[in-house]
Amino acid sequence: MPEEQKEKTGHQKTGAGKRLSNIMLNDYMQLHQKAGNGAFVVWIAIVVPAELFSGFENVVYAVPESHAAMSAGKGVGPLQCEKAEGKGFSPDLCSYARIDLGTAFDGGKDSPTFGLPKPHLLVSDNNNCSLLVKWFDVYHREWGTPHFILDVPFCYESQKEQDLDYILLQFRDLIHTIETMSGQRFDPERFREAVQYSAEAMMHWKRFLKTAAHRPSGLTVFDSFVQMAPFLTSRGTKALTDHYRLLADETQECVAQGIFPVPNEKYRLLWDNIAPWHQLNKMSTRLAALNANIIAASYTYCMGSLEGEFDLYAYDGGDPLRYLARAQNFSVCPHGLELRYRSMQKAIESIGIDGVVFASNRSCKVYSIMQMDLLKRVTEKLDVPAVMIDVDHADARKYTEENAFLRIEALLELIDIKRNHSRAGFA
Ligand code: SF4
Repeated sequence: MPEEQKEKTGHQKTGAGKRLSNIMLNDYMQLHQKAGNGAFVVWIAIVVPAELFSGFENVVYAVPESHAAMSAGKGVGPLQCEKAEGKGFSPDLCSYARIDLGTAFDGGKDSPTFGLPKPHLLVSDNNNCSLLVKWFDVYHREWGTPHFILDVPFCYESQKEQDLDYILLQFRDLIHTIETMSGQRFDPERFREAVQYSAEAMMHWKRFLKTAAHRPSGLTVFDSFVQMAPFLTSRGTKALTDHYRLLADETQECVAQGIFPVPNEKYRLLWDNIAPWHQLNKMSTRLAALNANIIAASYTYCMGSLEGEFDLYAYDGGDPLRYLARAQNFSVCPHGLELRYRSMQKAIESIGIDGVVFASNRSCKVYSIMQMDLLKRVTEKLDVPAVMIDVDHADARKYTEENAFLRIEALLELIDIKRNHSRAGFA
């Protein structure tokens, strides 16, 4: 392998990166085209199991949170936020909500995808946060669009059987609601196939993430942040499965050939919170220059797992609706402190983490609220250095690069001190 190829640093545009751009372009084009041709359009919260819609012949879905993340990544987050603020929405509301409201009430102007086609049905889910329910309620009030709310109990321990049954009942009710509103019949076989594709995609996703265990890591967290996007827009499709299979294959192949994003990796870090969408390139480049690599995030390894774990929750081929209901608590926000600590501990131990960056997110209070307690536990119980930085995942006006790096560099120093102490034989 030529040396110049081995010297690449930071987040890089691989074959998978180029395919990703095509998938996203195609997903949004198809969405607009099908909606224009009369498809039934549903707007959903990120954790609503989109495989349900594959059970219908002509139902398409859009994910406002995903569109907001893309808008932030393309640099129009603050612009759309300001539009929402101009209409009276508080700057303290989640920036995903403000970007989406700003975009929708301006007819999709300045959006990288020309906005989203107007919905026939809104489906929110209070599993992550109740703000999202209120956000979708704005459209219900303004446009009169029916709003279906999935009520998913918070999860302080493993999901209870009665909670699973309660979620199942609501999934069935949602299917019935769409049948009634769209006039289409739900086909269980189409749905089962979609769930199988998603489950297979998650298996490859985990294979991709596990390349982080190698020293140096086969990936940066920034690669995994951007590669989450089709999980939200292409769920239940063969295209998603194929893409994640190739992504995992390519990354494993790079590891085998000795090609690493941060070849002189000295610090292996864990990120806790949503991706800072407006900072991906800048942050990864600056970290790579310090020989530091954020190799995992609770935000990305919870996908395909139960209750935020690092390992895969495999589909056993049984009732697909039950499988989705069981996995409903995959994301981090609804978890209690014990669960979050346990998941983080397993991740730290399984891939070899030297330090943790807790990103206190001004927008996402539910993700951030117990980070101070987590930080205390991680440093005291696991003896892993950690720092807290201030971010906003989608509103770049609320982030200061120098403040964040001052603390990240302090974290690297703490890791050095700890290493020097252990070399010197101190406990
Ligand atoms: S507050 Fe957090 S969980 Fe709620 S919509 Fe915003 S980013 Fe998502």
